[in-house]
Amino acid sequence: MSKWPIGVFTSVDHGLGVHLDVAQELGIPTVQLHAPSKEKRNQKDADEFLAKCNGIQVTAVFGGFTGESYADIATTARTVGLVPQDTRAERVEILKDVSDFAAMLKCDTVGMHIGFVTEDRNSDDYKNLIGVTREILDHVGGNGQKMHLETGQETADHLLHFINDVERDNLFINFDPANMILYGTGEPIEALQKVGKFVRSVHCKDATWAAEDKWGVEWGCEVPLGEGDVGIETYLRTLKDIGYEGPLTIEREIPEDREQQKADISHAANLLTSLREKIG
Ligand code: MG
Repeated sequence: MSKWPIGVFTSVDHGLGVHLDVAQELGIPTVQLHAPSKEKRNQKDADEFLAKCNGIQVTAVFGGFTGESYADIATTARTVGLVPQDTRAERVEILKDVSDFAAMLKCDTVGMHIGFVTEDRNSDDYKNLIGVTREILDHVGGNGQKMHLETGQETADHLLHFINDVERDNLFINFDPANMILYGTGEPIEALQKVGKFVRSVHCKDATWAAEDKWGVEWGCEVPLGEGDVGIETYLRTLKDIGYEGPLTIEREIPEDREQQKADISHAANLLTSLREKIG
């Protein structure tokens, strides 16, 4: 794979990504995939998807769960990832299944939002979360894979603590600069410098901050790439500084307007291509 291939976040039957045909029409060479629902996670569907890819490389498969809602930050904290305790055990099993499906797609990376990890590292909840994360990573490792945690729900420092506490060598980060702004968890470039050595995949997404007294309470606003507060040129320069050479995977989370979503992704791909030439 050449350095910094363009990518796009895609979905099959649910999730916020575009459908594969958008990547094909725009000539985008790599995709991350939001894992399809359980009945589609089998070898036959994997083979059909790979045939449709026709050379497009699947660089990560993201697990998502029924019952998750990003309606507002409080709802996200209550419903997303492995953090909600009443669904934790069943979601661990789902992630193992997603890992098996990724293996069917010959993909070596599983991604996820773990959720709002408690700050209390001595709590039983935190220790249990460490335990189940290890259980997942051992399964993922058995498939020859690594797992990438998406950023945004924790500060960079807390994410580093968590990764260190898990003590596994196949746990890394999918860095999303816009999420840091949307959740109000920290200035994204500074965060990227802090967690740089763990970054193995990235999202190219942009956002504007909520008012400072609303950080962590009200969402910032996701906007087309280049129009927000990330500073995309600085973002790419920082990726270069940390030695990141993997895909630049575009996310635009407006599935309610598929035409606009496609237009914004096309614009983002052009922007990234020109910046890639400039920065080298
Ligand atoms: Mg993202």
